[in-house]
Amino acid sequence: MRINRWIGASLRRKLTVTYSALFGLIILAVAGAVYLSIKINAERSVGRELNASVAVFERLWNMSAENMTARAEVLAADFGFREAVATEDIPTIASAVANVSARAEGLSAGVALPDGRFIDATGESIPLPDDMLEAMYTQDQPSGVVTYQGRYYQSVAVPIEAPVLVGWALFWSDLDAARMESLESLSAIPVRAEIRASRDWAGKDGDIHRTRGFIGASSHIENFGDGEQMSLVITYPMSAAMAPYRPMIFAILIFSAAGMALLVISGGVLARSLTRPIAALDEAVHILAAGERRPVDLTSDDEFGRLAGSFNTMLKDLESREQAIVQLSREDMETGLLNRRAMNDDIAQREDADGPGAVSVAVIRVLRYRNVRASIGHAAAARAINLLAHQIRDVTGTMPYRINAADLGLLLDSEGRFAAIESIRHIVGACSRPVSVDGSSVDLLLCGGLALPDQSAENPPIGLIDQAVFAADLAERDQVPAASFSLAAYGNPASTLSLMSEMVDATRSGGLSLVYQPKMSSRDGHICGFEALIRWYHPTRGRISPDSFIPLAEETGHIRQLTEWVVLQAIEDQKTLRRNGFDLTISVNISGRQLSDDGFALWAIGKVRSGGARLCFEITETAVISDPDKALSIIHLFRSTGISISIDDYGAGLSSLSYLKQIPAHELKIDKSFVLEIENGTTDRLMIQSTIELAHALGMLVVAEGVENDKVVGILSDMGADSLQGYHISRPLPLTEALAFLATHNPRRDIA
Ligand code: C2E
Ligand code: MG
Ligand code: MG
Repeated sequence: MRINRWIGASLRRKLTVTYSALFGLIILAVAGAVYLSIKINAERSVGRELNASVAVFERLWNMSAENMTARAEVLAADFGFREAVATEDIPTIASAVANVSARAEGLSAGVALPDGRFIDATGESIPLPDDMLEAMYTQDQPSGVVTYQGRYYQSVAVPIEAPVLVGWALFWSDLDAARMESLESLSAIPVRAEIRASRDWAGKDGDIHRTRGFIGASSHIENFGDGEQMSLVITYPMSAAMAPYRPMIFAILIFSAAGMALLVISGGVLARSLTRPIAALDEAVHILAAGERRPVDLTSDDEFGRLAGSFNTMLKDLESREQAIVQLSREDMETGLLNRRAMNDDIAQREDADGPGAVSVAVIRVLRYRNVRASIGHAAAARAINLLAHQIRDVTGTMPYRINAADLGLLLDSEGRFAAIESIRHIVGACSRPVSVDGSSVDLLLCGGLALPDQSAENPPIGLIDQAVFAADLAERDQVPAASFSLAAYGNPASTLSLMSEMVDATRSGGLSLVYQPKMSSRDGHICGFEALIRWYHPTRGRISPDSFIPLAEETGHIRQLTEWVVLQAIEDQKTLRRNGFDLTISVNISGRQLSDDGFALWAIGKVRSGGARLCFEITETAVISDPDKALSIIHLFRSTGISISIDDYGAGLSSLSYLKQIPAHELKIDKSFVLEIENGTTDRLMIQSTIELAHALGMLVVAEGVENDKVVGILSDMGADSLQGYHISRPLPLTEALAFLATHNPRRDIA
């Protein structure tokens, strides 16, 4: 906002400054021109006056010279005077001279004798300067300025002849201040007149000359003798010349200043009115950039008004387009149901309104949705999901969100865990029925997950929706209709990941090992095989149970690397056994994942063939249930390579006889949970008995695992179990110990 104001202000300032400067310059130029013409005019008129004064002076000078000459001639013509001079009668000369001086006002007279003495009115005789004497001898009637003892005098000399030259009658007048003042008073303007050495005055005669604040004119004065050239200089101060114009100049200055001020103000106002719409538009654009919408309030008819109009229309279009985008972003494209983002927003809204913990989240999952989609196609599967959503709405009164392909989410009012799980069970039960898509019926099997707010003091690392999705994973895994989120089950995915990379390292660094648990034939008590079981001794965590890291390896996709390591190790160890004379089948546990992994199957077959190994792969029924076609084809592949197949943990999960029939296994392992209970109840015995009979009927051998005492050995042998495995026979043993164990149990050593 501040920036916008600055931009507006700066543009405004630029305009104001530019226009003010421009007009200011013009005003200055005009004022300057006026001042200059005034000055030239003033100079010219003063110059005229000065020249007139100089002309007057020249006339006065000449008149004064003529006057003095006339008087000197009269004196020189006087007979008695001539006699006195000829005889050098000093007193008579002095009195005559005093007489004429007294009569001629302002003038003084004296006599010069041929030897250069000069006699004045007092009778004193002083020597004349040489140049004066020379001038008198060489010129007829010398006249001009004389410089004597620093003062200036106008002087003339007329020769006295009796009849030969006996001397000169001299007249002079003082060119003193009074004389100058009388000259100055003749001028119409108060000029200043002075006698100066010509070299001190740069101006020429007849010229008007300007010098340091003065204007002046000069006239060259003739010299009596050859002393320094002198001039009369008449000056006038410029300030006085300009004085009459001062009010005018002052007025011009005032008007210019006022004009400038007016200009700046009006320029500012004009610029402001020009930039205001730009600033308004600029601000609106910045507000828009900041994510807010504010129309520009501008109603002028000019370009700015039209621009503002277009901007406002654009805003409206933008808004409606944005609304459409928001709407789209909240919708699941396939089904038109609200999506996960919408659910997230709604949770946030409910929590804002009713406080945290206001809602719980339920996820209803379509089991094996991928298979459904693969068999009826994407579009029909999406329609099935839509129909399911409507069924759920009919049951609950609210439309669910589609948060994943197979997951529908529901907001539940926060009730207790029990009530919430009950309502999910109810939904799962009520909606787990076929829906009719395009005339054919699609069977939808459901399970559900629940996430309650504030589950524990420890904050779950994921949001409610993810928690509910994870809870649905748990329900799916445990094959129950509904499960709720458990922090313990979720674990710590970050540490899981680092654990997995450590496990991969352990396959190379020797942190993993295999132990072998013997299988004993119930017929003759001989050891008929070994089950390879993995052991991991972690450098800092110590022994880690396979029950905890195998499922992690399965979930994080590391199981194949692990199984490959086990298979290679088992093949190696089998070679060792053979070298020691025991040719026994080694059973290796194969994870369910690997029954859908062609790559692994081909790899394993290659290794078994090239190593000449005799292996049995222990698999679980659930591995077959998830993708039966694929799993069965891989099992057939194993069989055809000579790998035996054993169904592990039979009875632990949801055992399905129909699958059991399809799996071409050599062996069935009754889960230790049954065997461990065999001494207590009768139900398990019945189960085991019928399982053994069924397995035999299907052509399979039966192994019982978890045999912990002698009594159980007897019971199971009586029931017809073919071989037994358990702590009673032996705990899983490292290879060397397994060899020693064999040596005591299998007396018949067939050296290979
Ligand atoms: P499983 O394949 O069912 O292996 C039998 C488990 O029962 C072994 O546990 C074994 O030590 C234990 N057991 C044997 N006799 C008795 C007994 O008399 N009483 C009791 N209570 N338990 C007994 P273990 O070694 O901890 O392995 C656990 C599970 O980990 C195995 O169950 C198997 O599913 C998996 N597993 C072990 N090694 C591997 C492997 O290399 N690859 C794969 N994919 N899974 C493995
Ligand atoms: Mg096993
Ligand atoms: Mg087992």
